[in-house]
Amino acid sequence: MKKYILDFTTAQLKAAVKNIIKEDYRTNQIIEWVYVKKASSFDDFTNISKNLQEELNKRFTLRVLKIVKKERSIIDGTIRYTFQTVDKKYFFAVFLPANGKNSVCISSQIGCPVSCVFCSSGKVKLVRNLTKGEILEQILQIENDIKEKISGVLFMGMGEPTLNLNNIVLALNSLLSNKEFGIGKRHITLSSVGNVPAIKKLVDDNFGVRLALSLHSVDEKQRKKLIPNNFGFHIEDILNVGKYYLKKTKSHLTIEYILFGNINDSAADAHKLARLLRHHELLNPSVQVNLMPFNPVKGSNLQATQEETVQKFKNILKLNGIIVNIRQAKGADIKAACGQLGY
Ligand code: SF4
Repeated sequence: MKKYILDFTTAQLKAAVKNIIKEDYRTNQIIEWVYVKKASSFDDFTNISKNLQEELNKRFTLRVLKIVKKERSIIDGTIRYTFQTVDKKYFFAVFLPANGKNSVCISSQIGCPVSCVFCSSGKVKLVRNLTKGEILEQILQIENDIKEKISGVLFMGMGEPTLNLNNIVLALNSLLSNKEFGIGKRHITLSSVGNVPAIKKLVDDNFGVRLALSLHSVDEKQRKKLIPNNFGFHIEDILNVGKYYLKKTKSHLTIEYILFGNINDSAADAHKLARLLRHHELLNPSVQVNLMPFNPVKGSNLQATQEETVQKFKNILKLNGIIVNIRQAKGADIKAACGQLGY
C-alpha cells in the first residue's frame, strides 16, 4: 500500500527514501516540492529524474483528501470546504479572505467529543483524529484551489485540537519550519476550551503560537451546561493556564466569549469577567477579549444577544481597562461561521 507522504516528518521521510535517494539535497528538493511549491503530483517535480518520479509514485501518495463541496459566501467571500477522507468520512475547513492576510480555519478531528451545545461540530460524535498529513493537506488544497498564499492558520475548525496533541505538534513543526510552510508563530492560533495539561505542554515545548481560550461563561454551572465535556477544569484553572502561557511565551492571549441572550450577557457577567481577569493578572495589553455573536445552529434554542446589550457588555469591559473586540461572523450565509461546522 502506498504511504501518505504528508504524514512523514522530514527525518522519517529521509529514512523512508534512503534506498532510492542517496544525496541529501535530493530529499530536500522533494520536501520543497511538497511544502513550499505545494505540488500535488510527483510528475510536477521537474528537477528530479523521471525514474525517481516513478519510484515516488510507486511508494507514496501526495493527496488523500477530496474536496467534495465548496460554498462561497456572497457576503464576504468566505469559502467553506467539505473534505472527504479515504475512509469516506467528512469534515470541514474555511478560507477567510483578507487583503494580503488570507487565513484558513482548519479541523483537527472528525466530530468533536467536547459537545458544546452551541456548536454543530459538537453534535457530531467523534469519529477519529485527523493525521498530521490530513491537518496540513487542508491548507495545501485550499492554497492550490484559491491560488493565493495563506499566511494565517486557525486551529478552530471541527474538533478540540488539544485532544489530538501528537498530530498537532507534528503539524506545528511543519507550519513553523522555514523549509516547509514557514508561517510565523504569531500567525498561528490554537483554540481550546481549556485542556489545561495539554496547553501547558504546548507552552513548555516552546511553540509560542497564539492561544485562544474559549471561556464563554463566568459561572461554573452555566459553563458546564454550555460545554458539557469541559475536561473538569474550573474557570480559575483555565485563567491560570492563560496567565502561565502569557508569562512563558510573551505572546498574545485571546479570551473567547460567545454572547447568548439572557444567559451570559448581563452587566453583572461583564463585571465578573473583568474581576476574574484582573484577579488572574490578565489585565494586560497582550490579552484581548473577543466577544462573538452566537451563530444559529440546528437543534439549539439559544438566542443571540441584542446589539445594544453587546455594546453595553463591551463598554463595561473597556471601562475596566480590557482590550475588547467584537468579532463579526464570517460566512454565516454558508454555515461557515464559528460553531457552524457540522453536517
Ligand atoms: S466549539 Fe470547539 S470544542 Fe466545542 S464542540 Fe465545537 S469544535 Fe468542539
